[in-house]
Amino acid sequence: MPRTEGGDIVDATNITEQWARIIDRLHTEVGDVEYRTWLRQMTLVGAEGDEVTVHLPTRFLRDWVSARYGARITALWQAEEAAIRRCELRVGGPVAQVVNGVASHIAGPDIAEPESLPATIAAPEDRSEPKFELTAALDARFTFDGFVVGKPNEFAYACAERVAQQPSAHGFNPLFLYGGVGLGKTHLMHAIAWELTKRNETPGQAPIAFTYMSAEKFMYRFIAAIRSHSTMEFKEQLRNVDVLMIDDLQFLIGKDNTQEEFFHTFNYLVEAGKQIVVSSDKSPSDLTLEDRLKTRLGCGMVADLHTTTYELRLSILETKAARAGGVVPVKVLEYLAHKITSNVRELEGALNRLLAHANLFGRAITLESTHEVLHDLLKAHDRRVSIDEIQKKVAEYYGIRVSDMSSARRARQVARPRQVAMYLAKQLTSRSLPEIGKKFGNRDHTTVMHAVSRVKELMERDGTFAEDVDLLRRLLES
Ligand code: ADP
Ligand code: MG
Repeated sequence: MPRTEGGDIVDATNITEQWARIIDRLHTEVGDVEYRTWLRQMTLVGAEGDEVTVHLPTRFLRDWVSARYGARITALWQAEEAAIRRCELRVGGPVAQVVNGVASHIAGPDIAEPESLPATIAAPEDRSEPKFELTAALDARFTFDGFVVGKPNEFAYACAERVAQQPSAHGFNPLFLYGGVGLGKTHLMHAIAWELTKRNETPGQAPIAFTYMSAEKFMYRFIAAIRSHSTMEFKEQLRNVDVLMIDDLQFLIGKDNTQEEFFHTFNYLVEAGKQIVVSSDKSPSDLTLEDRLKTRLGCGMVADLHTTTYELRLSILETKAARAGGVVPVKVLEYLAHKITSNVRELEGALNRLLAHANLFGRAITLESTHEVLHDLLKAHDRRVSIDEIQKKVAEYYGIRVSDMSSARRARQVARPRQVAMYLAKQLTSRSLPEIGKKFGNRDHTTVMHAVSRVKELMERDGTFAEDVDLLRRLLES
């Protein structure tokens, strides 16, 4: 039985069984194709202290699995065994090292030779494809019309529209859409594609060839091309497009030849005056890509999709409820806009669940039914940020004492941060104005109300201030 550093004993049989359950779970979550392509080759090697080690046969696979599934695997481990804090993914053979007596074959025996990158990856559909299907299916709902514009996304929206109207417009190439999960990056890219499709169908217009695909798909296709000895065709095809859109560039990882290939294609297209649009949840400089690629990516237009404001969330909900033809009381929409602050995808999910539920049971949507139907979701959001955390972060940010959040001091250098904290408390928690006032040295709810509108007003007028508040919100929400 393996001993852990902390003195705890990790049971080898137990850990093997837990791993089997995790694998099962992952398999279900990601589906058969993804599982077989990426995850099947994982081998549990052992556990030590609060860490589990898992092997993958190549660096490429390791990087890929780590980027895409690392967090999920760790979370699943933690759910199985609270003592486990980390799951190390390493490059190694199936049973090469036996740590603490644990080695398992659960992952299956079909392991290819280490570091032989592309050949180890099964690409089920691609075996005999002569031509490359380069554009992913477009979501019919993701149009410019279907995109609700507000302060946090108006710039990105305008840039995307501009590119759709006039690809390769000076200053907009490459267009880099940058923003957190579920804020509309994919939506805007599809919208560009739809717009181009529409244009191409208009008689008398010179057709504009475009390609939209995720960075993963790009890698996948490229690897398939290598395997079928058709990289030339692949490159040719890519170089023939007028607009190349690559979604979720953060998944283009590792210093292998796909990155190299992307770089060359990218350069070629930019130099040929073609339009590139990419999206990522990281800024160009934060991407783990080669410097020269980062530099090129950042030298066009970088358009942020900021976290949503209450106003934007409400207007998205109103629009979507109206489109779905459902009757949702304003109170419910306001409540959701207050509560679900993370991203638009979740907001949409919540609304859809409410509508489906109402439809199924033929009952009107009320605040009560909302609580009932969205119980689990809302609970998760309640835990998100506390007023204490907000006060602490804001005080830290502005370099004042946390105690000043509730002190009577009215000097501007403490009063303004205090107002910001009140504003964030209103935006990020479900607390009422009186409750918030109480947390800030027993202030009256009208003081909180005043703070909220003052901060809003300042954000409109002062871009730097707005950025500060935005940054704080991101910090608190992350
Ligand atoms: P991302 O690619 O940034 O993770 P998506 O573009 O997939 O996010 O958006 C997630 C969901 O939220 C999609 O269903 C999308 O239509 C919707 N969505 C995001 N922003 C907006 C918006 N401003 N208006 C309408 N729908 C939006
Ligand atoms: Mg996306």
